[in-house]
Amino acid sequence: MKKGIGLPVFSGVAIGPAVVYRKAQRTLPVPSGDPAVEKAKFEAAVETAREQLTALFEKAKVEIGEEQAAIVEVQLMMLDDLDYLDGVNLAIDNGSAAAIAALDTGEEIAEVFAAMDDEYMNARSADIRDMSHRIYDILCGNTGFTLPEGSFLLVAEDLAPSETIQLPRERILAFVTRQGSSSSHTAILARTLNIPSLVQSDISFDDAEDCKILAVDGFTGTWYADPDEETMDMLLAKQKEAQAARNALEAYRGKESITRSGKKILLVANIGCPEDAEAAVKADAEGVGLMRSEFLYLGRDTLPSEEELFEAYRKVAEIMGDRPVVIRTLDIGADKQVDYMGLEKEENPALGLRGLRICLTREEIFRPQLRAIYRASAYGNLNMMFPMVASVWELKAAKALCSKVRAELEEEGIATKDVPIGVMVETPAAAVLAHELAKESAFFSVGTNDLTQYTLAVDRQNAKLGEFYDPYHPALLALLAHIAKAANDNGIWAGICGELGADPKLQEKFIEMGYTELSMAAGRILESRKLVCESEV
Ligand code: PEP
Ligand code: MG
Repeated sequence: MKKGIGLPVFSGVAIGPAVVYRKAQRTLPVPSGDPAVEKAKFEAAVETAREQLTALFEKAKVEIGEEQAAIVEVQLMMLDDLDYLDGVNLAIDNGSAAAIAALDTGEEIAEVFAAMDDEYMNARSADIRDMSHRIYDILCGNTGFTLPEGSFLLVAEDLAPSETIQLPRERILAFVTRQGSSSSHTAILARTLNIPSLVQSDISFDDAEDCKILAVDGFTGTWYADPDEETMDMLLAKQKEAQAARNALEAYRGKESITRSGKKILLVANIGCPEDAEAAVKADAEGVGLMRSEFLYLGRDTLPSEEELFEAYRKVAEIMGDRPVVIRTLDIGADKQVDYMGLEKEENPALGLRGLRICLTREEIFRPQLRAIYRASAYGNLNMMFPMVASVWELKAAKALCSKVRAELEEEGIATKDVPIGVMVETPAAAVLAHELAKESAFFSVGTNDLTQYTLAVDRQNAKLGEFYDPYHPALLALLAHIAKAANDNGIWAGICGELGADPKLQEKFIEMGYTELSMAAGRILESRKLVCESEV
């Protein structure tokens, strides 16, 4: 048995086989110099790509839906495109190696598509690029990331949101990453999925690959490779105990979240997609306090269409019914990157073009999202908030666009409802200006993950800064009290949707400060309700 430690981000015990997630690494094969050999390699790679895409198509149809499946189908058809095949063979005849010929020809055709005056053809440029990259990867020996059957614990250096979105969530028993922090998105996903996980762990990929069974104790932050009998007994006993504690919390299901002195608190869930909304209902959440819209934009090659966004928001609205839902508009940037928006690489992405800043400078991105939200508003109880607000003018500009979009929809005869607009308070500037912002807002929801990062000037992603990322810092608590007071003075409600919202050491303090909504991973709702119901404040 081998063991080590990590920073636990969700309690519980997981036991099972380990899978190591490695980032794609490509090594260009040495060219043979013989066009016939290169052409044969290319042909074989096309056939492998066909097998991969066919399998993906079948999976997409069942798991992701017809629209995404259609994208895969287009790529399958492109494998037989004569312009592409002839182009690659010609490049090989002219001396190119198969891998380079496949990539360059794909790029040339993609550029022609991108330059066409036709939206449909423009979108196809991403498809041809994706397809030719796949062939290139195959020729470079990068077979991608293959998952075993059944459930497993995922070991990785770190996971970007664009990577986690492609994982089969229901089969992951735990995350064990070597990097990451307690507010990184791997940690947030672990809490959403209710799975015990460790970040900043000292596990090596060899440790994980050499063992038959990996176990994670999310209570103590320990991992065990091939646990011995005594350890296994201890872990199984803990697992049983955790299950019993979860069962005991069932007594709070369906109860109102109200303190002994009569303060009503709304306990709501953080979600990223319609499936999470279903999990929120199952977990007895009283609504959604944060829908991270950017998850609808990650793990794909093109911007989602207004229709796709509308469908996702409509589903969430319908699943939640009368319960309030707060949709956060797109928060791309910093650790959540997508290639297709053409955003430049930045020295300091956390201080760069992210969140509302992108939306205000790229109206063609923002407008379809706002249209989708207003269209979906007719199906439930939607609210919306903007991330990364630092100035009152930003809020006013975004609200003005909202009014315009809503008026346009009404003119088009599309029914909309009023969507209360709030501010996600996550910059120190917004916190300090809370009294002014409150005059323009229907509510505040505090993003404590970023507010901690920006107030303390500590990168939330940097594992080495652990102890300096202190969410109990008096400066942060002073800002939180100030925000709640500004909201109460102006008659609007305030909530907390960062990870701190579920912190049992602070929840009572937040209620005392005047917060009336706490938003968290769905799995934390019942234990938070117990705390609220037992609280005297
Ligand atoms: C936050 O910053 O606290 C927050 C909830 O948003 P995100 O973690 O997505 O940046
Ligand atoms: Mg944030």
